[in-house]
Amino acid sequence: ERSDERERLVSGAKVVAQALKTQDVNYMFGIVGIPVTEIALAAQELGIRYIGMRNEQAACYAASAVGYLTGRPGVCLVVSGPGLIHALGGMANANMNCWPLIVIGGSSERSQETMGAFQEFPQVEACRLYSKFSARPSSIEAIPSIIEKAVRSSIYGRPGACYVDIPADFVNLQVNVNSIRYVECCMPPPVSMAESSAVCMAASVIRNAKQPLLIIGKGAAYARAEENIRKLVEQCKLPFLPTPMGKGVIPDNHPNCVGAARSRALQFADVIVLFGARLNWILHFGLPPRYQPDVKFIQVDICAEELGNNVRPAVSLLGDINAVTKQEFAFKKSLPMNYYTVFYHIQEQLPRDCFVVSEGANTMDIGRTVLQNYLPRHRLDAGTFGTMGVGLGFAIASALVAKDRNPGQQVICVEGDSAFGFSGMEVETICRYNLPIILLVVNNNGIYQGFDTDTWKEMLKFGDATIVAPPMCLLPHSHYEHVMIAFGGKGYFVQTPEELQKSLRQSLADTTKPSLINIMIEPQAMRKAQHYLQEPRYETVYSG
Ligand code: ADP
Ligand code: MG
Repeated sequence: ERSDERERLVSGAKVVAQALKTQDVNYMFGIVGIPVTEIALAAQELGIRYIGMRNEQAACYAASAVGYLTGRPGVCLVVSGPGLIHALGGMANANMNCWPLIVIGGSSERSQETMGAFQEFPQVEACRLYSKFSARPSSIEAIPSIIEKAVRSSIYGRPGACYVDIPADFVNLQVNVNSIRYVECCMPPPVSMAESSAVCMAASVIRNAKQPLLIIGKGAAYARAEENIRKLVEQCKLPFLPTPMGKGVIPDNHPNCVGAARSRALQFADVIVLFGARLNWILHFGLPPRYQPDVKFIQVDICAEELGNNVRPAVSLLGDINAVTKQEFAFKKSLPMNYYTVFYHIQEQLPRDCFVVSEGANTMDIGRTVLQNYLPRHRLDAGTFGTMGVGLGFAIASALVAKDRNPGQQVICVEGDSAFGFSGMEVETICRYNLPIILLVVNNNGIYQGFDTDTWKEMLKFGDATIVAPPMCLLPHSHYEHVMIAFGGKGYFVQTPEELQKSLRQSLADTTKPSLINIMIEPQAMRKAQHYLQEPRYETVYSG
C-alpha cells in the first residue's frame, strides 16, 4: 500500500516539465546546476529537446529565436542569482524584438528568503523590467496555471518574454499527482481585425496617394503574413521597403522592392503603410528630414500602445497583420479604379498599330503618359487649341483612313466623361457606318473631379442642384454605354480591373460592331504630383 502511494507522487520538477509539454513547448535551452537540473531531466523525459549551452545569455538568445521562427515560445532554463542575471540580456532582447520567450529560473529556498540564501536575488522583481509577465507560483499546484499564463502571455497581443520563478524547494518536493490539474494548452492567439471604417479610410488614403510606400517589418514576418502582403503589393502595385528583419517576407528581388533606394523611398513617399514595424531609430522616428513633413502614416499593429508613437498616424489599424491585409485586400478589390489602374489595363491589350484618339482633362493627360504609340500620325488629341469635342470626329476619320489603307486596323478613342458629352451623338454616325471604333469613356462623374452617388444625394439635401452642386459635377453613375447600345453597338459598364480586361478583350476581338466601355473610376482620383524646379507660373486651365 505504501509503494502504491509513492507511485502517486510527483516532483515539482516533473510538474514544471509536464506543464510546459502540455502547452506545446518543444525546445529548452539552458545551463543546469542547483536547483534546476531535475527540471531539464524531466523535460527531456517528456520529449522536450534540451540544448545545453555555455552561457545563459546565449541560451536565452537561442530560445527567443526559436519563438520567432516557430511562433511557439522556447524555454530558457537558468539557475538562481547569476544564472538568471545572465539571462536578463536575452530577455530584454526578446522583449524589445517582440519575440515570445519563456524563462524559467530556479531560485533559492523560500524558507531562507532574506536570510542570505545561496544565490539569493529578487528574481521576479528583476525580470519585471524585461518581460510582459513575471511571477512565482504560490505552490506546486499552481505551477500549471502559471506556466499556461506565461506561455499565453508570451504569444497573445504583442509577443514578448515571460518569467516563471521556481524556488529550489519546489523542485524536489513530492506531491500527490491527484492534486495537480494541468491546464489545457492555451488556444492560439485570437485574431483581431481592424475596425472596418478605419480600413475604408486607409484604402482611400492609399488610393489617393501619389507616392505610396509599404514598409514591411519583422512583425509582418512573425505574423506569417507573406502571402497576403504579396497579394496586396501586386494587386495594388505598391512599392515596398523591408526593414532589416522584414527582408524576405516578399523576396528582395521582387520588382516592387525599393530596398536599393531606401532613403529616396522614405523621403518622397506621401503615404506610408507600416506593417509590423515601429517608428523607432531604425525608421528614423518617422520624422523629417528623412520623411516629408506631411507624410501620412497608416499604422498596422497588434499593439494599441504602439499606435501614434512619434507621429500622429493618418489611420490606425489595430489588429493582426494577416487579418488586416486580408480586409484591406477584400476592400481594395471592390474599390473604384483610378486613372493609372485603368490605363495600365488598357495598355496591356492595346494593339501596337492602333490609332489612339484621346480627349479630356486628366484622362488625356494621364493617358498620354501610360498609353504607348509605336507609329507616326497615330495619335490624335485635343491638340494646339485644347479643343474638347474633337475625339469622335477624329476617331471617325481615323477609322475611314484605316479602312482604305489597312483593313483590320483598330481605333481606340479614350474619352473623359465630360469630353464624351461634347459630341456623343456622333456615336450614331459611328454605328450608321459600322466603323471599327472602341470608345473608352473614363468616367469620374465630372470635369476634373466629381462626386459619388451617395455624396451627390447628401448634397442635394442642402438645396437645389443649381445652387449646391459644384460646377464640375456631372450626374454620377451615368450609363454612357447605353448611347452605344441605343444605336446597335455594344455597350459595357465596368467597375473592376477584371471587368475592364474582359470587355476590352471582347471589343478588340469582335470587329463586326463598334463598342463603348463606360469605365467607372474613383470620382476624386487625381494625377500624381508634379515636381517642378520652380513653382509653375501658369496652371493648365482645361487641357482637354
Ligand atoms: P522592425 O524592427 O522590423 O521595424 P519592430 O520590431 O519595430 O519591427 O515592430 C514589430 C511590430 O510588429 C511591433 O510593434 C509588434 O507589436 C507588431 N506585431 C507583432 N506581431 C504582430 C501581428 N501578428 N500583427 C500585427 N502586428 C504585430
Ligand atoms: Mg471626367
